[in-house]
Amino acid sequence: MREHFLPFSTPLISEDEIAAVAEVLRSGWITTGPNGAKFEAAFTAYTGAAGSVAVCSATGGMHCVLQALDIGPGDEVITPSMTWVSTVNLICLLGAAPVFADIDRDTLMVSRKTIEPLITAKTKAIIPVHYAGAAADMDPIRALAAERGIALIEDAAHAAGTEYKGERIGKKGTVVFSFHPIKNMTTGEGGMVCSDDSELLAKIKSLKFHGLGVDAFDRQTHGRAPQAQVLQPGFKYNLTDIAAVLGLGQLARLNGFNARRTELAELYREKLAAIPEAAPLGIPAYEQLHAWHLFIVRLDTEKVGINRDEFMAALKEQNIGTGLHFRAVHLQKYYTEHLGMKRGMLPDTEWNSDRILSLPLCPSMLDSDVDDVITAIKTVLKKG
Ligand SMILES: *Cc1c(COP(=O)(O)O)cnc(C)c1O
Repeated sequence: MREHFLPFSTPLISEDEIAAVAEVLRSGWITTGPNGAKFEAAFTAYTGAAGSVAVCSATGGMHCVLQALDIGPGDEVITPSMTWVSTVNLICLLGAAPVFADIDRDTLMVSRKTIEPLITAKTKAIIPVHYAGAAADMDPIRALAAERGIALIEDAAHAAGTEYKGERIGKKGTVVFSFHPIKNMTTGEGGMVCSDDSELLAKIKSLKFHGLGVDAFDRQTHGRAPQAQVLQPGFKYNLTDIAAVLGLGQLARLNGFNARRTELAELYREKLAAIPEAAPLGIPAYEQLHAWHLFIVRLDTEKVGINRDEFMAALKEQNIGTGLHFRAVHLQKYYTEHLGMKRGMLPDTEWNSDRILSLPLCPSMLDSDVDDVITAIKTVLKKG
């Protein structure tokens, strides 16, 4: 058995990044300022987006987008239940109704096929998720949203560096990224909203900082413009310069991180071929570059005689950490009790929700760590 615990993920912070953060701390300017502006410009250049706004989390960014689109009571928003709870919580907090689209059983992603039948006169937005670092099939979804005049927001929390048909996620449309510590790049906590809709982006920029008129927001005068006025009530979701300077360092290393993630994922796929009881997700057939945010397997619970939670606990006993991304949102307490959600509504979501787990995957891992995970899985499943 492995001697030291292998965490599911650890952030990889360089000494240069630590020094850059220390420099900001000593500079006399630690909240949103010159590094935030540099980070936004660098992210815009990286993705090819028309523009970017840095925020304190993807959740904060999504809140700004939904508010900018004026989503509220009487509106419906289509999103998967196989997502992080933040999106669905926001829809509810705004007084709108989440409408859950089922997913492809093998990629965990929504598609035009699962979204289209749910559209009604009340549908105001669609929020697909680029799952695990793979790209959702955006062409048909973009066509659908355009045909029906519905806003489209891409949840790219897993997709920093992902490409769809030769374009980085973030280049087109309105896209929200997360820099939480387990994501492919981190700022401690943080996020970025990219959009090719300049009017929407200006609203988001204002909403993330109290709803002040950002035209008057003069960064040269240290971000304080006494003449700035509230255009509409906003939030306090700006990203600090302490975080932004870390983001600049991480962004410069993102492609390298993702290349290492890809090597590790290939190693997992090769070795798991001998363990059909823990089958990896499918990789979409359309052209894309996978960022390998997560390496998810589905436990064949019928065959192995233990459930997924027991399997995760057994791996932990073998010193292997795992994650669960995600437990279906519609089956969680609030959503069953208040929205009348129940088992049976989303078969492919529920099937996966009961069986998925995320194996350790981060760029600091060694090939031998993958071997240890495979050995632990075989031990738990009593396979020689
Ligand atoms: C992490 C995550 C979020 C939220 O990101 P935060 O930066 O933690 O707010 C949203 N959606 C998905 C799919 C995520 O994985």
